[in-house]
Amino acid sequence: MRIHPLVPSLLLLGTLSFTAACSSGPGGPSGSAGASSARPGPTPDPSPVRSVDPSKIKGLKIVSDSSENTSCPFATSYPDVPGAEAMTAAMKKYVERRLATFRSESAACEGGTGGTEGVELNISHQFLVASGDVLGVRLSTHDPSGAGSGLSATTYWYDGKAGAYRTAPGLVADDSRGAFLGALKDRLKGREGVDAAALDDTLSDPASRAAVLDDMAFTADGGLRVDFDRGDVGVPAAGALTVTLSKETVTPWLSAFGKRVQRQTVTPSRSLDLGATHIPTQAVPTHTASGDDDTDCKRVRCVALTFDDGPAVPETATLLTHLARYRARATFFTVGQNVAAHPDLVRAAARAGNEIGNHSWNHPDLTTLSRGQVVSQLNRTSAAIKAATGKAPTLFRPPYGAVNPRVRAATRLSPVLWDLDTEDWKYRDADKVARTVIDKVRRNDVVLLHDIHPTSVAAVPQILRTLTARGYHFVTVSHLRATL
Ligand code: ZN
Repeated sequence: MRIHPLVPSLLLLGTLSFTAACSSGPGGPSGSAGASSARPGPTPDPSPVRSVDPSKIKGLKIVSDSSENTSCPFATSYPDVPGAEAMTAAMKKYVERRLATFRSESAACEGGTGGTEGVELNISHQFLVASGDVLGVRLSTHDPSGAGSGLSATTYWYDGKAGAYRTAPGLVADDSRGAFLGALKDRLKGREGVDAAALDDTLSDPASRAAVLDDMAFTADGGLRVDFDRGDVGVPAAGALTVTLSKETVTPWLSAFGKRVQRQTVTPSRSLDLGATHIPTQAVPTHTASGDDDTDCKRVRCVALTFDDGPAVPETATLLTHLARYRARATFFTVGQNVAAHPDLVRAAARAGNEIGNHSWNHPDLTTLSRGQVVSQLNRTSAAIKAATGKAPTLFRPPYGAVNPRVRAATRLSPVLWDLDTEDWKYRDADKVARTVIDKVRRNDVVLLHDIHPTSVAAVPQILRTLTARGYHFVTVSHLRATL
């Protein structure tokens, strides 16, 4: 490994000041606003909705995109569930629009320099319901470069019975909208920072109403929780606001679809069936490592290939097959939300002798988070890795390589940066990625790649073939560190 100067990522510390939403648990107060010195995390605070195990969703793919560069920091993800194509298309359209705007505003994203260093776009997902004929997903967007709070959330709903994508207001029956809006107003008026006249205007105009009523989901006890982004229905200083209407109050106002969503939230059925005509099955490789690696990196040329941001379907399985063919081991810096979706792939990677590292839950710049948020990002991911493989990780790679003493102090995991950056997130060209590694690699280098990109995975056979012929051995990061 080459020696690195500490990445000077203190830039943002103390410069961001948002008011965070403090969501309440089931049965708790219906909503409040609190202040935080750090930014709100890309994932909302623990949601009172019932948690969903995404690994049970047949044919699920998580569509991820990200950079690993502090000059152009973005990470986006949304799920693609068979049968819910119209909903997937809506999420894809939203994510691609936000990403295109973000990238066009930063010269560094497109190969230039300067611009928006440290201003990060993060879109992450959370399953709300995946049961019976109902699918619900919340996308949370953190974008401090945009207008408003920098944090916004939208829920997406799919009605498998009707074969239709629905937005949050579709949970309420059309002829009950007046009563529903009246109840919301009653609950909001009198809250600090809410102007009654402005609230009336916002909720009476169909376009602005649709824009602010875009985040609704049921609580575990059947109440309807409505989340308003900061500045939507009150002054920005009031923070994000939440109203939870009890089950007794809201049930008479629900649409037929809303009632089914409520039922599947409170008492989920065992499986999800959205009427998909084809559910792809993912083959999971079964290679098993033959004991410990005895490569001595003091005697032979070693290199540690690292693959970030996965696991991904189908790329990670393909990659495992390439690695097994050359008896190569690698290190996977996995993102927790993807581990939760595909624990079988993480297990297969570990069984084949690869190392599994922690790359946070949803790829935020950890240096912009509070200590508690850093701990949560890393601990949730380590727990998911341990659940998948039986072994907790010892290494973490900070997203964008952004680490500072505060992040280091928040975890016992050892940070791993890299010596050779292929910039494969930017250059989706297998031959270029392969040539970069082959031309630039030096003994004992840690090489940065991403297994969410088919082009990066396609580069691997050429890398393994050429470098094996030059006497290189492919080892894990921990093995490299232990034998140097
Ligand atoms: Zn990454």
